[in-house]
Amino acid sequence: MAVYVLGHKSPDTDSVTAAIAFAELQKMLGVDAVPCRQGELNPETKVVLEKFGFAEPELRTDVTGEKYMLVDHSDIKQAPDNWDKGELMAVVDHHKIGDVTTPNPILFVAMPVGCTGTVLYTLYKDVFKKDIPANVAGLMMSAILSDTVLFKSATCTPEDKAAAEALAKIAGVDDMMAWGMEMAKAKSAVDGVSPRDLVFRDYKDFDMSGKAIGIGQLELVSLDLVDNIRDDLYAELEKIKAEKNAHSIFLMLTDIMKEGTDLMAVTDDPSIVEKAFGVKLEGKSVWLPGVMSRKKQMVPNLEKACAS
Ligand code: MG
Ligand code: MG
Ligand code: MG
Repeated sequence: MAVYVLGHKSPDTDSVTAAIAFAELQKMLGVDAVPCRQGELNPETKVVLEKFGFAEPELRTDVTGEKYMLVDHSDIKQAPDNWDKGELMAVVDHHKIGDVTTPNPILFVAMPVGCTGTVLYTLYKDVFKKDIPANVAGLMMSAILSDTVLFKSATCTPEDKAAAEALAKIAGVDDMMAWGMEMAKAKSAVDGVSPRDLVFRDYKDFDMSGKAIGIGQLELVSLDLVDNIRDDLYAELEKIKAEKNAHSIFLMLTDIMKEGTDLMAVTDDPSIVEKAFGVKLEGKSVWLPGVMSRKKQMVPNLEKACAS
C-alpha cells in the first residue's frame, strides 16, 4: 500500500522538496512512499524541481483511509483534510510541535533548525546511514537556501549552513550562493499573479489565544516590485479577513536584501502590532527592520501580544 508524504498547505520549496527527499529515503528503506503536494507550486519551487530534474509531485489534500507521513509541519491547520481518518506514520519537521496526534508510536523527528532539509540530512547521514542521491541533495540544499533566506534569517543555525555546504558538494553545485540568488529572483516574481494568489503563495492560519490570525509572506529581492499593487494586496487582505471572520490578516513584504519586513496589516486591534513589535501601525503597513521570519519573529511576538 502506498504511503503518501505531504508537506503543508500553501506549499513552499521546503515542503515540496522535503516530501520528495523523505519519500526517496523511505523507498531506500523498502516503503512504497509517494511524495505529494497540497497545492500549487510557487515559482521558486518550479525552478528548483526543473534544475534538479524532478516532476511536480501529485496533488493530494485529503488522506481519508490512507497511510501518510508529514514533513515541514505538524499543525492540524496545515495538515491534509481528514488527517484523523488516515494513519499517520511519521513526522519530520523543524517548527514548534503542532497538534496532530496518533494512537500508535511513530517516527517523530523535529529539530530546532532552519529547514526540514537539514533534519533530513541528519536522517540520511546519521540515523539511517544512506547515501543521498546527487539530485536529491540539490533539492535539500535549495530548500535550506530558501527557508533560511540565503542564511540571513533568524531561523538559520550553523547546522543549516554545514548541511547546505555538504549537500552542494554532493549535488555538484559549485556556486551555491549564485544559485540561491537565482532562486530568490524566481521567488520574487509577482507580475501577472493575482493579489489573492500572492497573499496565499506562502500563507498560514494561526489560533492565538482564541484569535484567528492569518499571516502571508512574500520574500522579495526589492520592495519596488510590489509598488504598483499595494492597494490591491491590501484590498485582498480585507476580503480574506471578512471571509475567514479573522481577527487579523497580515502580509509580510520581506525585503531580503535590506533584511526587513514591511508588514501590511488588516486588524480589529492595531495595538497588537505595537505590543508585538514596539512600533505603531499607522496606515496600511509598518516597516520592521531585521524581521524576516514568520516562525521565529512574527508568530512568537504576536502570540505574546494576543495573550496579553
Ligand atoms: Mg514550510
Ligand atoms: Mg521549512
Ligand atoms: Mg518560509
